[in-house]
Amino acid sequence: MQLVDRYQRKFEYLRLSITDECNFKCNYCLPDGYQRTHQKQFLSENEIKNLINAFAELGTSKVRITGGEPSLRKDFTNIITQISNTEGISKVATTTNGFSLSKHANEWFDAGLDSINVSIDSLDANTFNLITGKNIFHKVMEGVEACSEAGFKQIKINSVLMKGLNDHDLTTFLAWIKDQPIQLRFIELMQTGDNQAFFKQYHLSGQTIKTTLLKQNWISKDRRINDGPAEVFTHPDYLGEIGLIMPYSKDFCNNCNRLRVSALGKLHLCLFGEEGVDLRHLLQNCEDKQELKELVVASLQEKKSSHFLDLGLTGATPHLASIGG
Ligand code: SAM
Ligand code: SF4
Repeated sequence: MQLVDRYQRKFEYLRLSITDECNFKCNYCLPDGYQRTHQKQFLSENEIKNLINAFAELGTSKVRITGGEPSLRKDFTNIITQISNTEGISKVATTTNGFSLSKHANEWFDAGLDSINVSIDSLDANTFNLITGKNIFHKVMEGVEACSEAGFKQIKINSVLMKGLNDHDLTTFLAWIKDQPIQLRFIELMQTGDNQAFFKQYHLSGQTIKTTLLKQNWISKDRRINDGPAEVFTHPDYLGEIGLIMPYSKDFCNNCNRLRVSALGKLHLCLFGEEGVDLRHLLQNCEDKQELKELVVASLQEKKSSHFLDLGLTGATPHLASIGG
């Protein structure tokens, strides 16, 4: 059994959300902060173990732990250790808002974390505060520093550039990576169920950023089949590189190589798909592994060719914190 869909796309990459809670209030994601409406039971370490074992046997080699803010979980380090010790998993990554990075970078590295994406939407402390609702820009930057010191070879910075809010930061961002081997990933703002008005006001097309980069002699790297959705740019004068994630560009979904499981154990075939397939009843016992694998493989055959975001469809996703961006 292998994770291949009807369009011959191969899925070796799993994004696992371990909580949908977050302590930031990013204006494009959770502008009013996380709302705890009722007590939720997020996947336990045992459920995660059974899930990852099954996915590894189906050919998954890379797992990204995300959320919400994954590092809010007290057992985050244990989860990293467990996933990185799973046979077949060669790469464990995480995406974090960086609030506790300066304290934990070493510990996570020692636990087996291979690569880390830190979300930083501005290099200006005031703008950072304006976007995230957290006045801790300098602490997050200390965290990035701590990652290099801890030994992380791959540090990526995620940034959502928005019209009139932080698009002027592009120049500062570029200057920053001149002498640093960091990959800056500009993620085009996506419309979700909850941010429609915000999206209309602030959406900046990734194509606009691409045009600016090309004018400044950045070179688009050839894409390989398993590269995933980012278009990567390099420049002979810069140590760092740029990854552009342009979900609205034509053919974006052709390179899709990832599946998602939410913190409540639902398989999401697409960030913008519908409800999700419940796997949780098959995560309680390792004896259910075969049935779990069969359910995942069968569900994958329903994956659509595209997210159809350009038609204004957002599926069942109110915001990306809900299923792990
Ligand atoms: N809390 C962590 C963080 O912010 O890094 C992990 C979860 S967050 C949902 C993952 C990534 O999704 C972040 O880089 C964030 O900027 C991005 N994101 C969230 N909502 C988005 C949206 N509507 N459009 C584009 N990117 C978004
Ligand atoms: Fe939290 Fe990440 Fe969403 Fe910001 S983007 S509110 S840090 S989940």
